[in-house]
Amino acid sequence: MDDKLAALAAEVEARAQQVRDERELDELRTSVLGRKGGRLSQVLAGLGKLPKEERAEFGRRANEAKARIEASLEHARRRLADAAVEQSLARRYDVTFDALPPHRGSLHILRQTLEDVASFFRSRGFAIVMGPEVETEYYNFEAMNIPADHPARDAMDTFYVGPRTLLRTHTSPMQVRSMLAYPPPIAILVPGKVYRRDALDARHAFVFHQFEGLQVDRGVTFAHLKGFVTDLCRALYGEDRRTRFRPSYFQFTEPSAEVDVSCAVCEGRGCRTCGGAGWLEMGGAGMVHPHVLRAGGYDPETYTGWAFGLGIERIAMVRNGIDDIRLFTENDPAFVEQFA
Ligand SMILES: [Zn+2]
Repeated sequence: MDDKLAALAAEVEARAQQVRDERELDELRTSVLGRKGGRLSQVLAGLGKLPKEERAEFGRRANEAKARIEASLEHARRRLADAAVEQSLARRYDVTFDALPPHRGSLHILRQTLEDVASFFRSRGFAIVMGPEVETEYYNFEAMNIPADHPARDAMDTFYVGPRTLLRTHTSPMQVRSMLAYPPPIAILVPGKVYRRDALDARHAFVFHQFEGLQVDRGVTFAHLKGFVTDLCRALYGEDRRTRFRPSYFQFTEPSAEVDVSCAVCEGRGCRTCGGAGWLEMGGAGMVHPHVLRAGGYDPETYTGWAFGLGIERIAMVRNGIDDIRLFTENDPAFVEQFA
């Protein structure tokens, strides 16, 4: 009996020195100390067959053997834990290895385009003002010399959000709002979103960005408008670009003109981008209508001014050869990251 206990303890001690991981150690512990079928339990099961006077001595030796087994297992557990620490300390890092570059965001191409426009206006002393996108009919139409029965209201394809309340169809409401807020002279740039009830296709969106330039002072003439717009187009499209003004009609300017810029792709010879015309339409311009000046509280007998509005998407498309307005809002990384 004693021999079996001593042999078991010695065997466990030897095997504990050999285990390579926690799993092997657990298996060894269960095989020896397990309540059911553990080898120590099997040896102790022979206790009942011993003569009464030998039982106490056997019990003492059994406890000794169990303590020795547990010490062996604990020793193995510590050995494995120490080895794990040593292993983690031995790991080396190459601090000179190139890190993966962090993914950097960038301004959207429309914002970059607007910044170029804004810096041109700022360099000429213009203030930048923003206005509400939800407008009243009065500021969007009446104040801009478009009365209720005027067919131009239908042409604007307006989103109404309530009685006499709408999503502005142009940035022009800020002309009158600004004139009412500031005494003349005034020189402002109004950038922002505008809304039209247009069907979405490659050239039309129901929300897009415009900017509006307005200058009112004594003695402002159409020549000032032409000079300013021509300079702006050169700043945006390059020194070689030519501009032309075609007579047109808007309710809020008189006289009015459409502004074209010579096509950069074909240098005016005609190509697919410009539809063979050699010119690209940029937007509308003109001298502020006396009714609009009056709505802003300015005396049209004393003050004159010019105004023009261009689409920011349009400029970005022409400058970057973008052929579909929907690309701006689809946020496809393949598109957006070209302009990072
Ligand atoms: Zn062309």
